[in-house]
Amino acid sequence: MKNGPGRSGLIMDEPLLWEKGKKGRNGMSIPESDVPAAALADELCGEGPDFPDLSEVEVVRHYTRLSQWNFGVDTGMYPLGSCTMKYNPKINEKHAGAEEITSAHPLLDDEYCQGTLRIIYELQNFLAEITGLDAVSVQPAAGAHGELAGMLIFDAYHQNKGKKRSKILMPDTAHGTNPASAALCGYKPVPIKSGERGILDVEQIRELMDEETAGIMITNPNTLGLFEENIREIAEIVHEKGGLVYGDGANMNAIMGIVDLKKCGVDVLHLNLHKTFSTPHGGGGPGAGPVCVVEELKKFLPSPRVDFDGSTYKQVEDTASIGRMHGFHGNYGVLVRAFCYILTMGAEYLEKASQYAVLNASYVKVKLKDHLHLAYDRPCMHEAVFSDKNQQENNVSTLDIAKRLMDCGYHPPTIYFPLVVPGAIMIEPTETESLEELDTFIEVVKKIVKEAETDPDLLHNSPSRFKVKRLDETQAARNPCLCG
Ligand SMILES: *Cc1c(COP(=O)(O)O)cnc(C)c1O
Repeated sequence: MKNGPGRSGLIMDEPLLWEKGKKGRNGMSIPESDVPAAALADELCGEGPDFPDLSEVEVVRHYTRLSQWNFGVDTGMYPLGSCTMKYNPKINEKHAGAEEITSAHPLLDDEYCQGTLRIIYELQNFLAEITGLDAVSVQPAAGAHGELAGMLIFDAYHQNKGKKRSKILMPDTAHGTNPASAALCGYKPVPIKSGERGILDVEQIRELMDEETAGIMITNPNTLGLFEENIREIAEIVHEKGGLVYGDGANMNAIMGIVDLKKCGVDVLHLNLHKTFSTPHGGGGPGAGPVCVVEELKKFLPSPRVDFDGSTYKQVEDTASIGRMHGFHGNYGVLVRAFCYILTMGAEYLEKASQYAVLNASYVKVKLKDHLHLAYDRPCMHEAVFSDKNQQENNVSTLDIAKRLMDCGYHPPTIYFPLVVPGAIMIEPTETESLEELDTFIEVVKKIVKEAETDPDLLHNSPSRFKVKRLDETQAARNPCLCG
């Protein structure tokens, strides 16, 4: 097995600053004072705060080591399925951090912020063109927030037609945020079981769709990494009964510039700019989840949006808008990153990015399918879903495999999701990994699969090379120990 660089670095124990250093140590040296000391006022005397005494190098090493406890896509491959952890080009950061952008005040009148409004306007147009839909609002701050906007639009549409609806069709492969967003709008999710081929079965939709049902939420490609081939037929059934089709666009990285979602019958779609359009994410930082809609639903979009009359960019409110989803225009810095990414890629390379994302996932799928159980042995899109089925006889689980991958220098893939595959291991390599990087990853997974047979305890006791070992994850989330 190739031993990639940086996959087994020093793992440094780092105490608190208070536990380091020695009394009297100092980070600077200044000349002795040549004036007599004056007595301080009484109230300023006494014990000061208990700051530790440290030298400069101790402080520098402390913070540098803490920064190395983190793992990001700049550290190594991060194959977290459904999350599209692609590399984020630094030029996007440069532009998002430009002073013209960061110093623009959101309360400026339109005439004083034509440039920043133009970026929003052009981004709205790019996103409309990429998805095939007609109008866009960039306000929502995340995918889940875009879903909520979408469900509010569904509700506004049905109320506008004079009849509130109470249910929504929800595939069992849906991301957990889908039923949550629908429920927040008062809809009762009606579960749909995936068919044998891992995609939606038209007959089931035909049976369940009725005039009490507001519509359906579909992720395409779905969270099994499979393309919903019947989406047009499903959309027709839903439309016939007066319902709407919501597209969860989190997996857009597989189909950018290739699939026209309006032609698929989608009425409302959210995008995750932080996933598909390259913004650092995963640490809970800001995101953006624009909603894109067909012409008929434009009037319901969150406000304000930006319009252009041929000479001036203007903030506008749509007539029946669901209102604001966020202050001002959402997370503007993320919008600038996406705008910059789209401009630097151009239509041709956005399409190529999707093709390479699918190629990379297919490569991993084919190379690993004799080693890990493949849930659905069919052509995959941008991610492949395996499981621990073959390892169960050795009492090795998906969690053990994920933890062992950490010891080998990788962020684990998404595990135990989607729920329809017991013990799921969902690998999304993304287009930004090279063939050599993929080959090294594949070798590492094969090695772990062997270890599961020959030395299962090694996996049970992973990770072993980290400061913290196997955690009780519930306790770690509920009662985090933050003291290092
Ligand atoms: C990530 C994701 C979401 C939610 O997006 P956030 O930006 O994390 O709120 C919804 N659906 C799918 C399929 C996703 O992968």
